[in-house]
Amino acid sequence: MQQDFSMHKLDNNPVAHCSGCPLQGETIVPYLHSRASGGIMIVGESPGHTEIEIGQPFVGRAGKLLRDNIQAAGIPLGHVFIANSARCMIDKNRLTARDIKDVLRHCRPALVSAIHEYKPFLVLALGDIAMYQILGIKGITQQRGKVFYSEEFDCGCMPLFHPAYVLRGKPSREPVFLRDLKWAKMHVYVKPLTMHQVIQERNLS
Ligand code: SF4
Repeated sequence: MQQDFSMHKLDNNPVAHCSGCPLQGETIVPYLHSRASGGIMIVGESPGHTEIEIGQPFVGRAGKLLRDNIQAAGIPLGHVFIANSARCMIDKNRLTARDIKDVLRHCRPALVSAIHEYKPFLVLALGDIAMYQILGIKGITQQRGKVFYSEEFDCGCMPLFHPAYVLRGKPSREPVFLRDLKWAKMHVYVKPLTMHQVIQERNLS
């Protein structure tokens, strides 16, 4: 697999908090960690089969769509931190809704510590599960594209469609996805505003 992101595996105490998790003992796929901080952090749902095989997040078909669109949006790859809501695969055919909630609860501390370490300006939460994991809210179709301020993390959080949903859906979803990424890039790297200004501008537009 081509390593097109100059990132480093974050691997400090990977199994802390796993005790009692419904996925305890499954393969853990670590986050990809940019050495820069204060930029964009992307949080997905969980690794799939390809990610487990390769050992990195977002390297399957949905990952390719994500990476292609990050590049098309002009987001500097070496400044992005890529994480997941759960570091083991959430198989929705095998797990109940209650199990999934339990997995997210167990895996959240690792994500929280990564966010505190990276200190992103903006977290892009891909899909319903990531939005729930970061902000505790649901309803991606209604919330997509808005910017929320997270008091817990002192940063913005913008929910986006999950790339797997973009892949499955109508062709019109990819331009929306790219537009959201371009907007994020503009306000994090090109025309930096305060988070308050970002939220005002985005949510009033
Ligand atoms: S999902 Fe997270 S908490 Fe659960 S076993 Fe995997 S790494 Fe541990």
